[in-house]
Amino acid sequence: MAEADDRIVAGVELGGTKSIVLIGRGRDILVSERLPTTSPAVTLAALRQRLAEWRDQYAPEALGIGSFGPIALDKSGMDFGHMLATPKPGWAGAYVVGALGEGFGERVAIHTDVTGAALAEGQWGAARGLADHVYVTVGTGVGMGIIVNGQPVSGRMHPEAGHVRVRRIAGDDFAGACPFHGDCLEGLVAGPAIAARAGKPAQELAADDPVWAYVADALAESFAGLFLTLACGRIVIGGGVGVGQPQLLDMIRAGVVEKLSGYLPFINQAEIANRIVHAQLGDQAGPLGTLALARTVLD
Ligand code: ADP
Ligand code: ZN
Repeated sequence: MAEADDRIVAGVELGGTKSIVLIGRGRDILVSERLPTTSPAVTLAALRQRLAEWRDQYAPEALGIGSFGPIALDKSGMDFGHMLATPKPGWAGAYVVGALGEGFGERVAIHTDVTGAALAEGQWGAARGLADHVYVTVGTGVGMGIIVNGQPVSGRMHPEAGHVRVRRIAGDDFAGACPFHGDCLEGLVAGPAIAARAGKPAQELAADDPVWAYVADALAESFAGLFLTLACGRIVIGGGVGVGQPQLLDMIRAGVVEKLSGYLPFINQAEIANRIVHAQLGDQAGPLGTLALARTVLD
C-alpha cells in the first residue's frame, strides 16, 4: 500500500461548470489547474494538452477521471468511456476516455466524481480502513459512490441510487422535485427540492425548520436500505445540504436505528455514530477522488 501511495498519477475532474487537471503523489497534489467546462471540443483539448505537458515533466503512471454523468462504464461495451445522455449541452456522446487517455494505455480509470470522492474518503478521509462503504452527496442532486470490497460498484454504468423512491412520512403530499420521478430521494432531499418545498433556499432555513424532519426521514429510509442491501460498514455524507445542516446527522442516525428495529446486528444505538458520519475531505474530495481512481488501475 505504501509503495503504491508513493507513485505519481494524473487526474482530471470534469465538473458541470469547471474542470480540474492535476498531478499527485499519494494525497499530495503536486500541480493543478482549473478550467471552465465549456464544449467538449474546447475543454477536452485543453485538458489533454496540459496532461501531455505534465506527462513529460512528471511521468504519471495512471490517469483517473472523475466526471459528471451519466457515463458508460462497461469495459466490454462499445460505448465505454463515453458520456451518455447528459443534459449538459454538447456533451452527450463525448468520448472522454479517448480524448484524455492518450499515453496511459490501459491505465485509465473513469467513474463519477462521486465515486472518486467515495474512494478518496476511503483512502484518506472518513472511511479509512473500510472495504465497504457508501459516500452520499446531498447537494444540487443526490449522488452515491458505492464501494464494495474496496472497488467501486459499476455495471453498465454507475449506480444511481439517489433516484430510488423511499417510503414517505404519512400524510406528506409534497410532489417532489425530480424531473424524472417526482418524489424519489433526490426529489425530496436535494437543495432544489428543499427550496421548492420551503419556498426559499435551503441554506436560509433555520436549523429547527419542520422541513428538516422530512429530509432526515427520507435520507434515513435510503440509508436503512443501503445497510440492508450492502451490509456496508459506514455511510459518509457530503454535499452542501449534507454537511451544511449539522443537525441532520443525528436525526438521520436516529431514524435509521428506529427503522431497522434491531434487525441488523451492526446497527444500534451504540454504533450508529460510527456508521453514519460526515465527509472529511470537503472540496478536496473531487480532486483527491481522481487520484484515488487512478490508483485503482496501478498494479
Ligand atoms: P453541487 O451539488 O452542485 O456540487 P453543493 O454540494 O454545494 O454543490 O450543493 C449545492 C446545494 O446545496 C444548493 O442547492 C444549496 O442550496 C445547498 N446548500 C448549500 N449550503 C447549504 C447549507 N448551509 N444548508 C443547506 N443547504 C445548502
Ligand atoms: Zn429521480
